[in-house]
Amino acid sequence: MKQSKMFIPTLREVPNDADSKSHQLLLKAGMIKQIASGIYSYLPISKRVLNKIEAIVREEMEAIDGIEILMPALQPAELWQESGRWPSYGAELMRMTDRHGREFALGPTHEEIITSLVRDELKSYKKLPVTLFQIQNKFRDEKRPRFGLLRGREFIMKDAYSFHASEESLDATYQDMYRAYSNIFTRVNLKFRPVIADSGAIGGSHTHEFMALAEIGEDTIAYTDGSDYAANIEKAEVIYKPNPEHTAVQSLEKIHTPGVKTAQQLADLLGRRLDEIVKSMIVKVDDRYVMFLIRGHHELNDIKVKSYFGTEFVEMATEAEIEGIMGAKPGSLGPVGVDKIEIYADNSVQDLNNLAVGANETEYHYINANIGRDFNVKEFDDFRFILEGEQSADGSGPVKFAEGIEVGQVFKLGTKYSESMKATFLDEQGKARPMIMGCYGIGVSRTLSAVIEQHHDDRGIIWPKSITPYDIHVISVNPKQDVQRELADELYETFKQDYDVLYDDRSERAGVKFNDADLIGVPLRIVVGKNAAEGMVEVKLRKSGESFDVKVDELKATID
Ligand code: ATP
Ligand code: MG
Ligand code: MG
Ligand code: MG
Repeated sequence: MKQSKMFIPTLREVPNDADSKSHQLLLKAGMIKQIASGIYSYLPISKRVLNKIEAIVREEMEAIDGIEILMPALQPAELWQESGRWPSYGAELMRMTDRHGREFALGPTHEEIITSLVRDELKSYKKLPVTLFQIQNKFRDEKRPRFGLLRGREFIMKDAYSFHASEESLDATYQDMYRAYSNIFTRVNLKFRPVIADSGAIGGSHTHEFMALAEIGEDTIAYTDGSDYAANIEKAEVIYKPNPEHTAVQSLEKIHTPGVKTAQQLADLLGRRLDEIVKSMIVKVDDRYVMFLIRGHHELNDIKVKSYFGTEFVEMATEAEIEGIMGAKPGSLGPVGVDKIEIYADNSVQDLNNLAVGANETEYHYINANIGRDFNVKEFDDFRFILEGEQSADGSGPVKFAEGIEVGQVFKLGTKYSESMKATFLDEQGKARPMIMGCYGIGVSRTLSAVIEQHHDDRGIIWPKSITPYDIHVISVNPKQDVQRELADELYETFKQDYDVLYDDRSERAGVKFNDADLIGVPLRIVVGKNAAEGMVEVKLRKSGESFDVKVDELKATID
């Protein structure tokens, strides 16, 4: 494709609301355009990358007998009422009413539609198992759309659903999917980790998430180097062991801590370990306000609350609510004035003494706070606390944390939807039984962004070969020079027979062209410049920055 005829609106400056590296680069490289919060158009370069990712996804799905279909995005409320999710799905569901007053939703996921499809069409055990998948835009009215394509309100998902006559059959497909997902994320060149995403013990898990490792990731993974076990921190089964060094009980003392805003800063100031610092956090659980005492490195924002407590129903109380109830600012509550609410803590906090805590006063903290003496605590059963650096429960080494982006999830649904929506099949004895189901999602547009998070440098994107928008970027430095233009034209015509070629034939300054080329990130560049007259061009590799002069007759061999 000739760049003079392309639509690649690259930007010199990054818009300042772009909140992640991939978001910045997608905008800067002219790959996406925001239409509304969390809603984007995919411009030609990103569309090409999406096509490549989708082709890989299709291949891997078809390799495990997945059958592609396309279901409507517009879904009637009746089906959601049948499954019971119409009232429970909440504010993320984009709801609307048609001209006859009938309610609809824009699909955030398709369990209801697929279950209604399959129950009407597949009635015998002989037709099972079956796996159906689609690649389609999904709609979720996210509370906080952010990081560009990483958390959109309209985004592209591959969703697959499998239907089975037995648990064993579901297990087999789940394993196939797990392998297919590993293949997909390997092929798009993501560094990723599959993690356990429910509280089942090792091996007995019903769901895994595939996490692309990236600092920007909103999930935290707990893992050890000594085993394959890795879990979303929401669900990790890692038992804390108290440190006997810190059990001597000293008296509570208030100290001045100028400038201290985070647990880490307090730890640094006091020369203490991060896990000896306690933060208080007040959250609303159902209708109760609950104060959690949390040690170490936790950030008090609502996203983190969700991921650390893992229960969808936990919300931060608003500042006004907290002030109203506690007479205190959020996150700054010391062991005073807390008689109006119940206080909960995990076991690990209870058996630690001489902790440092906020004193409910700016720039003051208490040291030597003792749980039980200075704090009144109760246990909160559902809450398991894990600490970086502590021995894991299975003895496989110290627990490590990493941030991850959830790019996919595989899930054993069981009969949740088939029972509520009466999707039954006749077994060998002619008896009607609910189908056993699995569902499997990949964020296609999120995957594209995750790849950029992992593959870029200061100058722009560095595409892995498997999903690059073009294989070769031919640049004629000065197309006004006949020799250069003619050679570049010729190379373009030749190479486009076997490769996807982007050809910068624009009459822009060389600097502009090189900047754009770095930004767009095609792995291999052929620069036709002054040496064209001698039949020489420059070949440059985007990743290493290496470049070398090559004779035109040897170019084909060099590149192949
Ligand atoms: P998250 O925890 O990030 O909100 P989710 O668990 O709600 O994701 P699933 O219902 O498991 O998402 O959907 C399958 C996949 O779709 C996810 O693994 C993710 O890759 C992708 N996805 C989910 N929500 C979004 C979004 N708002 N924008 C882009 N991709 C998304
Ligand atoms: Mg979500
Ligand atoms: Mg999730
Ligand atoms: Mg998920």
